[in-house]
This record gives sequence, C-alpha cells and structure tokens, in this order.
Amino acid sequence: MIPVVALVGRPNVGKSTLFNRLTRTRDALVADFPGLTRDRKYGRAELEEHEFIVIDTGGIDGTEEGVETKMAEQSLAAIEEADVVLFLVDGRAGLTSADEAIAKHLRSREKPTFLVVNKVDGIDPDTACAEFWRLGVDAMFQIAATQNRGVTALMERALAPFSDKLNAELAAANGEEGGELTLEDLTSVADIEKANLSEEDAEAAYKRLQEQPIKMAIIGRPNVGKSTLTNRILGEERVVVYDMPGTTRDSIYIPMERDGQEYVLIDTAGVRRRKNMSMAVEKFSVIQTLKAIEDANVVLLVIDARENISDQDLSLLGFVLNSGRSLVIAINKWDGLDNDVKERVKSELDRRLGFVDFARIHFISALHGTGVGHLYESVIEAYKSATKRISTSLLTRIMQMAQDDHQPPMIRGRRVKLKYAHAGGYNPPIIVIHGNQVNDLPGSYKRYLMNYYRKSLEMMGTPIRIQFQNSE
Ligand code: GDP
Ligand code: GDP
Repeated sequence: MIPVVALVGRPNVGKSTLFNRLTRTRDALVADFPGLTRDRKYGRAELEEHEFIVIDTGGIDGTEEGVETKMAEQSLAAIEEADVVLFLVDGRAGLTSADEAIAKHLRSREKPTFLVVNKVDGIDPDTACAEFWRLGVDAMFQIAATQNRGVTALMERALAPFSDKLNAELAAANGEEGGELTLEDLTSVADIEKANLSEEDAEAAYKRLQEQPIKMAIIGRPNVGKSTLTNRILGEERVVVYDMPGTTRDSIYIPMERDGQEYVLIDTAGVRRRKNMSMAVEKFSVIQTLKAIEDANVVLLVIDARENISDQDLSLLGFVLNSGRSLVIAINKWDGLDNDVKERVKSELDRRLGFVDFARIHFISALHGTGVGHLYESVIEAYKSATKRISTSLLTRIMQMAQDDHQPPMIRGRRVKLKYAHAGGYNPPIIVIHGNQVNDLPGSYKRYLMNYYRKSLEMMGTPIRIQFQNSE
C-alpha cells in the first residue's frame, strides 16, 4: 500500500513550498468536495524509488482560540489517514506557542512524527534548532524547502520503514529463510520488478499475475453514482460475489466473478462498509480514493452526465494518469436525457477529455443497468493491454518501423538514431528506447512514437510510458 505523508504546521512555515517540491506540481487535488473540509491539498509524489501521497493540511492556525477543535476540523481526518506526519516549524521565526499547541495535539495522536525545521538557509541551523527540542520529538530534520536542501534525506528517513517492509518481505521470500522465492509471493508488477528475477522466472511470474483477479476500483466524486453502480454490479445475476476476506482500514475489497473472469472490486463508495469505521463521518474520502487508484489494475472513473466536467473530475483523472493505471471512463446518468443534451455532453467530453485518447468511454445508466454489462469488455481489454508481455525483438521492430516511416529530427547537426527497445515494466507498460541523443528528442516525436506503439500493439485502456536511454 502506498504510504501517505501529512504536512502539518501553522501557516507560513513552508508547507506549500515543501508540498510543491515533493509533488513537483501546482495542480494538486484540492479537497473542495461537498460535505468535506476544504483547505486540504493532495498530491502524488515520486522520489528515488518511493511513491507516496502527500497531504497539505493547510491553515492550522494554532494561535487561535480552541486550537484543538480547529485542528480537529481542519486536519484530523488527514492525520488519521496518514502513515507519517511531518510537523513543520519555521527555523527563522523560532518556537511559537502555536507550534507548542500543535505538538501537544500530535503527541496525543501517536503517529510516527518527524519534526522538520524549515528555512535553515542562511542561518546557523544548530542554533536555530536547539529550542525546538522542547517540543519533545524523537527526530528533528533541518531543511530549506525553497533550496530543496535536506528534503531528500528527510523523505528517505520518513519513508524507510515502508521500503524496508517490502524489501524484508522480498528477502524472506527470496530464500533467506531457506525457502525459495515462490510466484505466490509476487502479487504485483512492482514486486516482480523489484525481485530481480531471471527472464524465465519473470515470465512465469507475469503469467501467473495475468491469471490473478483484476483489481478494479470504481472512483469518482460524490454523487456521480458510484454506490448505485457498485450495487448494480454486485446485484447482477451473472455476477458471483464471494465472502470478503480479512479487514483493511481502507476500501473494502469485494471478490467476484463474471463469465469465468475473477475480479476484486475496490469499493470506494462504502457500499459494503463495515460498521464502526471512522470513515463513516465522511462519505467520501480522498485518501481512500487515491489509495484505491494506486492499488487497482484498472480504474473505472465515473462521471455525472448531468453535471459539467468539474475540476475535481479532472484532478481525479490526473491522479489516475500519474499513477499509470489502466482506465475506463463511465459517463453515468445517461438515462432520460434529451438528444441535444447528449450532444452537448459529448462535445464537452471531446473538448475536455480529448487528451486521454487511450481510454474507452461508456455511456451508462447505473440506475437502470443500461450499458453496465459492456464495461467489463473494456476493463478486460485494458487489463490485458497493461500486462501484455512484449518481446524485445517486437518492440525493436516496431521502433524501427516508426523510425523508417518518419525519421527523428537532426539535433546539433546530427540525426538522432534509435537503436533498440525493450520492456521496462508493466501496468503501465514501459518501453525503454536506446539510441544516441535520445534525451534531446522533442515532445512531438515522443508522442509520435507512443502513438505508433499504441496502434501497432493495439493497446487500449492503458497509458504507455516511453523512457529513453542515451547510448553513444
Ligand atoms: P505555508 O503557509 O506553511 O504553506 O507556507 P508557504 O509554503 O506558503 O511559505 C511561506 C513563506 O515562507 C513563503 O514566502 C516561502 O517562500 C517562504 N519559505 C518557504 N520555505 C522556505 C525556505 O526554505 N527558506 C526560506 N528562506 N523561505 C522559505
Ligand atoms: P455516489 O456518491 O457516487 O456513490 O452516488 P450515488 O450512487 O449515491 O448516487 C447519487 C444520486 O444519483 C442518487 O440519487 C442516485 O439515485 C442517482 N443516480 C445514480 N446513478 C444514476 C443513473 O444512472 N441515473 C439517474 N438518473 N440517477 C442516478
């Protein structure tokens, strides 16, 4: 499961600056959903081999009266949902009573918490930090978010337990307890890639993975019809629903089968939510949605035909695209719409979603069941595309054909030459192309290659990532 890191601290300590550093973007998902506390930002970050979700809990102003309530409102849910808390303070401003109030609150939460003294650029960090020990923390880090100083070291430490856990599992599986690494131990593409298997073993591991149930997450903003769709799917006569195994603190995983294909439906709508879950307070949880995306093979993004495509729809879509998961889009509530409305919706989709040309779009009515059965075809297609094994020779041949049809440009008086290609990962498929000066290829040629691969390999439903390796 992808770790979640919450940034906490009074205003102006540098949370947004650190958030932007980590996510390298300004278009974060802002939790501006109906019924949800505003002022929280969610981003997806990749650093070295770590992937994680960052929450900027926004304006906790500890100086106000009733900081406890304020914090409870603003960021308690975020802290609850986080695996690690980074508590930021301002090394230039020194310790404030607001910091102390927040520290007190955090101590009662018992979350792994790192104290981060920011803005140590141009000052003596050790002097600046000394007084913060009073906050009673286990570990303190000095950073300058604007200079990107200390940020990597901080994140390495904060995230170490999560990669250690995976490595330990892999090591245990890898025969360090006398056993052999068995294919059963490798339950995700990421595991297989980290396990450094021989070509033959990797092949077998991927084959086995392809026979696994398809993990399918139904996501979308509130009221688009996720619960209705989930109930429709689970109630369908052709669907066999199994007992739910184990418990997780996140979405409920519902194993099911249809036409001989096994699925695990990740229920973010809380249709089958257990009682006594803290999440019940908020019907919609951004973090739960983001985690479901990460854990899914295929994401079914539900959009409401009766509402304009909103920034939230696009933010969720952005998350799916960044995660590299396969995608099927369902435009719901298609029942009873006039033809001119339907035309208008379709042209808006073209305009705003035209850039996700790889995803199939279905027009459905979860309420009446219309079109729901056809979703499976696209889900299966997307999954197969995302996990398809493609040989080096085929990838190289397609690359060659693309190059023959349309030569790469000249750069600094020399023609860029593509030499060979091989697979670098699956779900999403990664194609690694070796050649000279390839890092200087313009975006247009990269897109041309991607589309060429997509057409040649008939890959629908999944993004394709191309990486370039210079070899002179
Ligand atoms: P937030 O309210 O906690 O999100 O704080 P911001 O990220 O908006 O930062 C508040 C101010 O501190 C901005 O003017 C930043 O440019 C500045 N700031 C943030 N990080 C640093 C840093 O590492 N060094 C210095 N000198 N200023 C910083
Ligand atoms: P969720 O918040 O995404 O889980 O949305 P719900 O499944 O609770 O649906 C929100 C509202 O939209 C409810 O009133 C549903 O009855 C209605 N709804 C859901 N699907 C459809 C549909 O296909 N057509 C119509 N007309 N209404 C729908």
